[in-house]
Amino acid sequence: MALRDGAQGSMTAEVAVVGGGPAGLVSAIALKAAGVDVLLVAPSPAEDHRTTALLAGSVTALTTLGVWEACRPHAAPLASIRIVDDTQRLLRAPEVVFNAAEIGLDAFGYNIENRHLLAALYAHAWRLSIPHVESAAVAIASDSDGASVKLADGTARVRLVVGADGQRSLCRAAAGIGTDRRAYPQTALTLNLAHDRPHHDAATEFHTRSGPFTLVPLPGRRSSLVCVLDPAHAAELAAMEDAELSAEIERRAHSLFGKMRVEARRGVFPLAIETAHAFARGRIALVGEAAHVVPPIGAQGLNLGLRDAASLAEIVADARRQNCDLGAPAILARYDAERRADATSRRIAIDWLNRSLLTDFLPVQGVRGLSLYLVDRIGPLRRALMREGVAPAASQPRLMRGEMV
Ligand SMILES: Cc1cc2nc3c(=O)[nH]c(=O)nc-3n(C[C@H](O)[C@H](O)[C@H](O)COP(=O)(O)OP(=O)(O)OC[C@H]3O[C@@H](n4cnc5c(N)ncnc54)[C@H](O)[C@@H]3O)c2cc1C
Repeated sequence: MALRDGAQGSMTAEVAVVGGGPAGLVSAIALKAAGVDVLLVAPSPAEDHRTTALLAGSVTALTTLGVWEACRPHAAPLASIRIVDDTQRLLRAPEVVFNAAEIGLDAFGYNIENRHLLAALYAHAWRLSIPHVESAAVAIASDSDGASVKLADGTARVRLVVGADGQRSLCRAAAGIGTDRRAYPQTALTLNLAHDRPHHDAATEFHTRSGPFTLVPLPGRRSSLVCVLDPAHAAELAAMEDAELSAEIERRAHSLFGKMRVEARRGVFPLAIETAHAFARGRIALVGEAAHVVPPIGAQGLNLGLRDAASLAEIVADARRQNCDLGAPAILARYDAERRADATSRRIAIDWLNRSLLTDFLPVQGVRGLSLYLVDRIGPLRRALMREGVAPAASQPRLMRGEMV
């Protein structure tokens, strides 16, 4: 149910979700499915031509919420992941291939264009009749009884605010939560492309001296590309004509899938790593990139964000069953504690891997090469790593296990 601009006035709900990206929409849907009176405050999302590799836990959560059926026709399975050291350095890592079948899965997850994922989530939120204010929150203030979300024309009074408003989060600022942020000297160029040879449901990550160059399958003979470069090279490639860029991408991909043809629309994303000092404070709980930003290595960003959404919905639903105040400090403390280990371990691993690609320091190259060698050779280690990548031991909220919140 969309509330027209100018018709908002004064509203009440138990929870307001601020932000209509994937983390916010999954939060709103999961809360509503648990019987929570939830309001979505979200302007129309900007065009996003990226794709997201959703790992198995995220796919299970979307299936449990009834969203995956609409996504599946647009998604390609990731049956294997191949890592190729393309750094041309003295010490290079061996090529490693991870097969989902080794850990008893058909696929590690599925890759889908964000526009299809968002369309499926919005359609489901609509089916659930989640009230939707289609404009941005202007200000948020909390007190001992609740929180007020100031809208363009009116105010929503709630017990809890879910801050799902992305990297430059108003909710995070309103809660007085700072961040640790470090910009990398890297930019990701993203695009989708068609190719002559089949990808056989395999994702391929070339590790280059400027960062990963990753091809991820889409349905048919199409793939999405995330090419991490220094900013000047990224701008140079982004400005190329289609034919020139297609040839350049094919060269960088070592003609893996034969002739390549880039599709219209390219994205350019300066990379950074950022973590909020707290995930919740003062009746505001942060999910998705409002809480943590990681570079696109190993498809972790939104998968972390969806685990935030699932954990928070579970904690709020439990609190509601016990007639607790949904924004009480104890509820927020539990959420913060549950999410910290997962987000911290991913941040450390991704940061280390990314920096190990950028450095010319030989011992670091050696450690990276040795790590991949051991992973390649030692079966139990390799399977443990695959399981941890798909379903982290530190965080398995009910939705990720196929149970409703
Ligand atoms: C190149 C690249 C590739 C990636 N690939 C993957 C991948 O394969 N797998 C993966 O898991 N992750 C991936 N990620 C990460 C993933 O894209 C992000 O984690 C995800 O998009 C974040 O979703 P979100 O909902 O938290 O934030 P966003 O998508 O940024 O949504 C935030 C929303 O909040 C809204 N908003 C902002 N301010 C307000 C306000 N005041 N009031 C109301 N609404 C507001 C915005 O309009 C926006 O719609 C990738 C990232 C990049 C850069």
